[in-house]
Amino acid sequence: MNDIIVAKFGGSSLADSQQFAKVKKIIESDNRRRYIIPSAPGKRDKKDHKITDLLYMCQQLAAHNLSFDDIYNIVKKRFLDICSDLNLSFGMEDILDEIKEKIAHGASRDYAASRGEYLNGLILSNYLGYEFIDAEELILFDKTGKFDAKATDDKVNARLADVSHAVIPGFYGVMPNGEIKTFSRGGSDITGAIIAKGVMAQLYENWTDVSGFLMADPRIVKDSKPMEKVTYKELRELSYMGASVLHEEAIFPTREAGIPINIKNTNAPEDAGTMILSDISPVSHTGTITGIAGKKDFTVISIEKTFMGSDRSFFRKLMTIMETNDISVEHMPSSIDSISLIISDSELNSKLQKVVEEIRIYCNPDSIICYPNMALVAVVGRGMINTKGISAKVFTALAKEGINIRMITQGSSELNIIIGIENGDFERAIKAIYEAFQ
Ligand code: ASP
Repeated sequence: MNDIIVAKFGGSSLADSQQFAKVKKIIESDNRRRYIIPSAPGKRDKKDHKITDLLYMCQQLAAHNLSFDDIYNIVKKRFLDICSDLNLSFGMEDILDEIKEKIAHGASRDYAASRGEYLNGLILSNYLGYEFIDAEELILFDKTGKFDAKATDDKVNARLADVSHAVIPGFYGVMPNGEIKTFSRGGSDITGAIIAKGVMAQLYENWTDVSGFLMADPRIVKDSKPMEKVTYKELRELSYMGASVLHEEAIFPTREAGIPINIKNTNAPEDAGTMILSDISPVSHTGTITGIAGKKDFTVISIEKTFMGSDRSFFRKLMTIMETNDISVEHMPSSIDSISLIISDSELNSKLQKVVEEIRIYCNPDSIICYPNMALVAVVGRGMINTKGISAKVFTALAKEGINIRMITQGSSELNIIIGIENGDFERAIKAIYEAFQ
């Protein structure tokens, strides 16, 4: 590991000149913060627009030969205001006009969207006095549009070897034919992780507008505490069950390289935030949980068949039905003569009847019953490994609330307990479990 911090600042951290000033102060307070990844300006308040959204709109209007002057003027004013507030003059207006011309003359959707990060990167590099390195130089996609991790890693390594401090815009890179290609929405997180891996940084800081991940959804648990530490594995469990602050794909490069991520708040830089740590780091919080997440709207298909296990082809047939109907199964708790398939309604779409019919024909069960409107709650924490009493606490809390538990699974990693309940009990269950661990 090198004595380097890669710091990514999200859209709300760079939404206006006041936010830029906070960001500068943060960067300059630690000289290890050498490579800075900006997003495009985000919303300044609830009613405001993200620059990226406006740029997508401009491109769409232009593609239909409609005027996009009004919307582009909003974009332009936003960037020019930031420059004038910060006393920067480096020809921003000309650059903005050139981009407008390109959009008017058929520039791609990805090109248009990427300009938010490009322009914000130019401003930040001028403001900090750091070199500007265009993401086009570093982040490489192959000709099919797939991110090329190996080529990018080599490029980042070589290009940044002699650069002490630089600003590199997030969210996009380039294909071999020179076309700009963006990651999916929120993709500046990914750029930051890639750069952190490329320079083998000791830390990847992800600056946003919250002081880390919260233990539970704040819409359900008011004043939920933040998580101090969470491992990559725990975070995966939580994020696939609905919790999110960071782009999912951003986790992979740093996880692979063993680089921790610190989620920090630009508006409260002294807060510790959440540290995402490697899976092997020591457990400092035994006997408690790390977080709670969950999702509503699952259907359970419960299948009974006596001597299910002695029919060697039973499970294969069942899974083939799921595969041919392109349905991914979330969980499959089983007993000696029964198995339940828990499937998200968004996966199932309108295929339920067809699937049940096929199970009837191919698997010949004694009975099939479907239970709609189910929710899953995941209680996640490495602290529960080898600790007695965690599940007792969870189930007692639910019993006290009068919540009927319809299903329980615990992953063999002992990292989580997943509980199936009815949709209507979802919020109450999360609150009750959270309270039990305070
Ligand atoms: N500006 C892009 C978006 O709004 C990427 C990012 O902010 O990470 O999705």
